[in-house]
Amino acid sequence: MIMILSGAGLSAESGIKTFRDHDGLWENYDVMQVCSTQGWKADRALVTQFYNARRKDLEDKKPNRAHKALAELEKKYPGQIYNLTQNVDDLLEKAGCEEVIHLHGTLRDLRCEACSHIWDVGYSSQEYSENCPVCKSDSIRHNVVMFGEAAPMYSRIYEAIQKCQLFIAIGTSGQVIDIVPIASEFQHSILINPKREEYMTSFGSKGRYIDAYFEHFLQSGAGEAVDEMMRIIEEFMDA
Ligand SMILES: [Zn+2]
Repeated sequence: MIMILSGAGLSAESGIKTFRDHDGLWENYDVMQVCSTQGWKADRALVTQFYNARRKDLEDKKPNRAHKALAELEKKYPGQIYNLTQNVDDLLEKAGCEEVIHLHGTLRDLRCEACSHIWDVGYSSQEYSENCPVCKSDSIRHNVVMFGEAAPMYSRIYEAIQKCQLFIAIGTSGQVIDIVPIASEFQHSILINPKREEYMTSFGSKGRYIDAYFEHFLQSGAGEAVDEMMRIIEEFMDA
């Protein structure tokens, strides 16, 4: 089986920006205010407004070659792919993927704080008049994991490590989820990233690049790397 872990670099070519593209400010919002539990407690209206705008932004965004390649993989090798993403956009789904594991939540959904029910609102805004369709609570929030709260889907990472023999990291700098210990569990691995990143541990830099821990390093944007990635995957699956 194949474990795929994608990050912001997968969606960058589709015009999706993340807070890492900005310097503490994201579309004029303070990142810590809109992406942390403290900010959420301090001003729910502001945070809601922010996610409403991000959700609306998604509507006209289109999947790129890399999203489409991952959808193709799912069809070609049914039940063989763990498609894990740190992205909260819906471009993998737009490309035709049906089994995406969103590690950091999803922009298109709202969540009930009372019963944890999650439902799709498309690209529409949260208006404060919603009630949970299941328990009728009016305590409703966006469905994006914030700094300061648990990410329950992370358990799927460990599950994938146990079950898969090939690990592919696409467009992630390894700053949020450390991909080096994951890659170290695999004999076969591919890293796709336009930039060489130094491996920073909590003790500081080890003076090595992250790509040193991978079997293959494709130093390019996600879309550009697709053909070579597919070639390596086919070779692996045929072996
Ligand atoms: Zn509920």
